[in-house]
Formats: sequence, C-alpha cells, structure tokens
Amino acid sequence: MANRQLAVGVDFGGTKCLSAVVDVASGEVLGTGKKKTRSDDGPQELMERIYATVDDALKDAKVDSGEIAGIGVGIAGQVDADQGILLGTANLARSVVDLPMAAHLSDRYGVPAALRNDVQIAAIGEARFGAGKDVDDFMCVFVGTGIGGAIVRNGELVHGASGSAGELGHTIVMANGRICGCGARGHLEAYASRTAITKVLLGEMRRGRKTILWDLLPGVDPVHPAESGAIRSGVLKKAVEAKDEVAVEAVTEAGRFLGYGLAMVVNVLNPRRIILGGGAIEALDLLFDEAERSTRREALPVAGDRVEFVKAGLGDDAGVVGAAVIGASTGR
Ligand SMILES: [Zn+2]
Repeated sequence: MANRQLAVGVDFGGTKCLSAVVDVASGEVLGTGKKKTRSDDGPQELMERIYATVDDALKDAKVDSGEIAGIGVGIAGQVDADQGILLGTANLARSVVDLPMAAHLSDRYGVPAALRNDVQIAAIGEARFGAGKDVDDFMCVFVGTGIGGAIVRNGELVHGASGSAGELGHTIVMANGRICGCGARGHLEAYASRTAITKVLLGEMRRGRKTILWDLLPGVDPVHPAESGAIRSGVLKKAVEAKDEVAVEAVTEAGRFLGYGLAMVVNVLNPRRIILGGGAIEALDLLFDEAERSTRREALPVAGDRVEFVKAGLGDDAGVVGAAVIGASTGR
C-alpha cells in the first residue's frame, strides 16, 4: 500500500465515458464509473457527464479526491495537449470546440489535469503496462469504426509539430481511391476499418450474394442501411467463424490493406514491434493474421523480418490506465 500512487483516468469514447481510479505504480484499476455519451451533448453536459463518472470511480474505489495525484483524459478528437484544450471532435455536437477540459477538471478536483488524443493515451497504457512494456520502439494501431495510431520512440510518445503524429488511418493506400470520412481519397480508414468492412458487406448483400449476414442481421436493409453505423465486431466474428465466403473475403481484403499501411510504417520507422488493438482486431484473428502477412510481404525484407506483431494487452482498460499515467505525471 505504501508505494501506491493514485490517479484518475478518463476514456471519453464515441459511445461511452469510462473513468477509473488507477494505481499508476502497478497499473491496477481500483474503481470505475461509466456513463453512455450522447452525440448531441454541448460543452456543459459533456463536462457534467465526465464529473459524474469521476465521482462514481472515486466512490467505487473508496478514495477521496485529495488522495489522487492528477486526472488524465483521453478523447477521440483533436486536442491541444499543451493547453489541455479539446479543439474539436467528429463524435460530438459542433458546439464542443475549444473546450478547456483540463482546466475545468483541475478547478473542480483541485489537482493537475491533462488531455490527450485517445489513441495516444492507449499507447501510453500499453507502453507502461501492456504489450509494449519491454520495448522502446513500437507503433500501436487500433482498428474500430476508424483507425487510429500512435508511435512510441525511445520510450516516449511521438507528438509531432501539431500533436497528431501517428494518424495511420489517413495515409493513402490507394491513389484516387474510396472517399474517407475525412473527405480525402484512398485513405487506409476507408479500406480497413469496421466502417469500411461494413460498406463492402452491405454492397455484396445489395448484389444479392448469399451470406450468413442475412440471418445475423435480421431486418437489415442493405439498400438503405440504418444510420447506426458499422456492423458490430461480434457479428463479423460469427460470420468469419462460420466460414461465410462474403465475410471472409471482406475481412481478408481489409487485412491486406492494413498491411499496405503498416508496410509503410515498417519501412519508414523500422519499429521493433507493431501492437494491434481495438474491437475489430480483438474479435477477428483473420484480420490480425492477414495484416501481418500482408505487411511482411510488402515491406522491405530486412525491416519486415525484424518487426514483431502482437495484440494489445490491456483491452478495454488501456484508455483509462494510460490516461491515469498522463494525469499522474502532469503535476510533476
Ligand atoms: Zn481520411
């Protein structure tokens, strides 16, 4: 007990906000609080939601806010890490821009607070306690509704000039290719994310192909799909495990493109390890295996032979643990 150092980590995602009291000496999660997020939240509601989950986490861990060293927040969006300001995010109402989240949290709880991009936060969690704890040079890539990446070099997170280093999802894998969510063409995210896989599968269903997805997604209308977004990882897993031809094709293709993106990483950075995580990777061994195969095939042999492929080790906790590590180190 004597050596424990407590901090609060907040993982603010597209669907939920998870807060946790973490012992950053051991990585142990001592208590959590969770709330669903709403895309129409304004700045006030968003902060209230975070406060509620932090309060719940402190209560769950039976810890007073005076005992914590700091608070770290990871959020999917562009952040000014130096100032602790959320500049903007695709998941929330347009009114949520230039929000000084760190200052608000610091005022309320009386401790230092920090804000980072969610993928960078998860990479810090993996670097300290997860699949990257024994190496200094690696890249983390998370595949979900989008594709995020973060680079750790000599044990330190690489920020870049504007804090956005590691955005592998928006590198070009096909000149003049599919339109990406960001508006540009041919980006990896438009070929290998769960959203991209969904588009391919719905297209095949529109063409009338026979697939188990007609049973797994009862009521789906591939011509006018619901706005609710990408097919869930669990459904994709079932379809692939059933050796559904259409699903296997789509996931294999996504893995191949992921390899094109990762081969660039391997050639440019020559990392020791590539850590793949996120819901789609956790659910789909085929995606992981195909990405590895494709990377080794496309990369320069010396670099491609040397790099190790591993799955992220912290799962859902990577975000809160990494955020707590950042929160704890802010005050010093
Ligand atoms: Zn893009």
